[in-house]
Amino acid sequence: MTSEHYDAVIVGAGFAGIGAAIQLKRLGIDDFVILDREDDLGGTWYVNHYPGLAVDVPTTTYSYYFEPNPNWSRLFTPGPEIKQYADDVADKYGVRAHMRFNVAVEGARWDEEASVWRIALAGGDTMSARYLITATGFLSQPRVPDIPGITEFEGTLIHTTEWDDDFDAEGRRIAVIGTGATAVQLIPELAKTAADLTVYQRTPIWVVPKIDLRFGERAKRLFARVPLTQRLLRWLTSSIYEVMVSVGVRHYRTFRGRFNISASDLAKLHRFAVIRDAELRRRLTPDYDFGCKRPTFSNGYYRAFTKPHVHLHDSGIDHIEADGIVGTDGTKNVIDTLVLATGFDLWEANFPAIEVIGRDGRDLGKWWRETRFQAYQGVSMPYFPNYLSLASPYAFLGLNFFNTMEYQMRFMDRLFTEVKRRGATTFEVTEDANASFLDRMTELLGDSLFTNGNCASAHSYYFNPAGEPTLLRPSSTETAIAEASAFPLSDFQIA
Ligand code: NAP
Repeated sequence: MTSEHYDAVIVGAGFAGIGAAIQLKRLGIDDFVILDREDDLGGTWYVNHYPGLAVDVPTTTYSYYFEPNPNWSRLFTPGPEIKQYADDVADKYGVRAHMRFNVAVEGARWDEEASVWRIALAGGDTMSARYLITATGFLSQPRVPDIPGITEFEGTLIHTTEWDDDFDAEGRRIAVIGTGATAVQLIPELAKTAADLTVYQRTPIWVVPKIDLRFGERAKRLFARVPLTQRLLRWLTSSIYEVMVSVGVRHYRTFRGRFNISASDLAKLHRFAVIRDAELRRRLTPDYDFGCKRPTFSNGYYRAFTKPHVHLHDSGIDHIEADGIVGTDGTKNVIDTLVLATGFDLWEANFPAIEVIGRDGRDLGKWWRETRFQAYQGVSMPYFPNYLSLASPYAFLGLNFFNTMEYQMRFMDRLFTEVKRRGATTFEVTEDANASFLDRMTELLGDSLFTNGNCASAHSYYFNPAGEPTLLRPSSTETAIAEASAFPLSDFQIA
């Protein structure tokens, strides 16, 4: 058993962990380690490599602000390019050398006397650190449905987060369970070569057309030589998305849901243009408001259902047998491959992803569940000194993760600079500051789609098990960045 000490330990080598590491380096903190349970960096962009994977926000906005990438091949870039971008950034900013892979962190406990975090690793080794930063992501704990008989299935069983790149769909009888963003990307790909494909839908998803562009060599050269052109494009696509989230989500009541109605009309038109069968269109139509769960962009999803070998099953699954799926209607579908596009467990297996015990033995997971999910500025909680949780309630700004990362890096900058200036050893957000942030978020949500829209049947992971929409931070990117750069330092006890 070994025990090592660092100034900081970061858990997670995805874009959040890489961003936090770059920020620590900028702050002059070089004695840190990044731990990841996988065997490579990139987080979700390493874990996910199913066919059809592509970013679902324009790549023009999908990069760190300080590191634009002129080389994206498309507006909606395929997944492998994003993984490559993670590699390139980690190398350029010298953070790869700090990474340790195949290291699963089990938990962390604040040692009040020594003012350090004691970190337990699987296998029994331990670490201690002055600062703990968890960058474990929201969509990191795959959900395997507990459908009766699933463990009896004898064919090929694949969760989309464990895609086998050698898997060939050609000639196979495949069932896909799930119709979320992942399934929407994967289904058109499987439909190309499978002999038979049945999609098991519990909740239909909103699908709007994807307006994609290829960036040719000339465009890439222009982006590289005149970075302002790419900045302008970023500004444009970010502004469009910002307005959409503002009008359609945050200020739904003020705008009386008009944006959402227009977007659902677009999706309806899209269905109408692609699918001739009115009954099939009806079955693919969501009965909750556009935006209650993450909508998707695809030109191939609806089209896939028009192929004779692709079927929609939406009357429920009763159980799974060794060679097929039996529906609640009693019919059996014989398959050789079962694909689980069942997404992630955000609220039970996550929040937090590891056990975190703060001052006076406060258990973060229990505290969140016994009180309310809460985090000052989406990163900091009282009784958890020297700890930043980057995947917290109210952290995610929606749509684009890099906007979230931008404000979180600025938050780190302001806080750690002050700690250094005072020659202090600990920081902890005050209970008052945390409570008033939570009150403010709750009040802002009062105007939102989540409070006023029809979201009950959406099964959306934006809502926690108590039915509160505590995932998204209901503020604009601009506001979040401004607050992170100028929050009152008196909101923290710095000693
Ligand atoms: P998801 O949106 O949570 O979808 C999971 C699907 O599985 C849902 O249709 C769900 O049905 C279904 N499901 C789960 N358990 C089930 C059960 N026991 N029986 C039947 N159906 C079941 O997960 P996801 O599609 O993996 O997407 C998650 C998020 O990842 C997205 O919202 C998006 O933010 C992100 N994502 C991003 C990209 C990208 O940027 N390129 C691509 C893919 C995903 P219910 O709706 O009824 O629960």
